[in-house]
Amino acid sequence: METWPLGVFASIDAGLGVSLEVARELGVTTVQLHTPQKASRTPQKAKEFLARLGDFGLRITVVFGGFEGESYADIPTVQRTVGLVPPETRAARIREMREIADFTRLLGVNAVGLHLGFVPHDASDPMYGAVVAVAGQLCDHCRTLGQNVHLETGQEPADVLQRFIRDVGHDNLFINFDPANMILYGCGEPVAALKRLGRYVRSVHCKDAKWSERPGVEWGAEVPLGEGDVGLENFLRTLGEIGYAGPLTIEREIPRQPHRQKAEIGRGLRVLEELKVKIYGE
Ligand code: MG
Repeated sequence: METWPLGVFASIDAGLGVSLEVARELGVTTVQLHTPQKASRTPQKAKEFLARLGDFGLRITVVFGGFEGESYADIPTVQRTVGLVPPETRAARIREMREIADFTRLLGVNAVGLHLGFVPHDASDPMYGAVVAVAGQLCDHCRTLGQNVHLETGQEPADVLQRFIRDVGHDNLFINFDPANMILYGCGEPVAALKRLGRYVRSVHCKDAKWSERPGVEWGAEVPLGEGDVGLENFLRTLGEIGYAGPLTIEREIPRQPHRQKAEIGRGLRVLEELKVKIYGE
C-alpha cells in the first residue's frame, strides 16, 4: 500500500465536505465520507454511491457520523449540542450512530468516525461515566460489524483523551487526529499530543489553524493548510515517527465558499505532495 495516500473530506448530501465530483477533480484517491442523510442510508443507495466512487477512482477510508441539531457556532454551543455527550439526545443519537455504522458496513468500510462531543475533563464529573458507557456501546456494536471507531480529536487535551480511551477499554477504539482542532479548541500543542496519542491514531485530518487570544474560551481561526500554527512539516515527520502510513485527508470547513474551498484544498494537496517528497524522497 502507498504510504500517505492523499484524500479529502467529502460529502454526498450532508456535512461540510466537498462533493465527490470535486474530490475527483482534485485528483485524490481516498475520501473520508460524511454520512449521507438518513433517507439515503439504504442498500440501494449504498450500491449507487459505490458505483460512483468506483467510476471516480475513489476509496472511502472512514465514514463520519453527524447528527441534526449539532452546531459549531462557538465553544459553549459545541459543548451543548455536539455528539453523544448531551444527555437529552444521547439515546436517539446512539441509535442513529449504530444505523450509520450499519450503513458504513454496506459501503464495505471498516471504520466509523465521530465527534463524540465534549468529554468531561474531570473524571469525577457525574456525566463522565455515562459518556464512557455510551462510547463502549458504540464500540460493541461496531465490533459485530468488524469496524473500528475513530474519535475526532480537539475537545480534549491529550491526557484526558488517553485516559478516556483506557476507561472505555475497547480494543477497537482509536483516534482520528485533527491537529487544527487542538488549536481551535485550545486543548494543547498538537504535535506533542500526537506523540502522546500516537499508538491510537488510525486516521488524520490535515487542517490548520491559528491560536485564539483566549484559548479554550474563544475559537481559534481555521486557515488554509500550511498557513497556521500546526507546523505542517513537523506534523508529518511526527506521523512518520509514530509509524502512521495511512491517508492524509484534507479537511477545509468553508462549504459556503465552494470555489475557495476547492482552490485552497488544491493548494494544500500540492503542499502535502512536496512535503512527502521532502520527507520520503521520490
Ligand atoms: Mg476534523
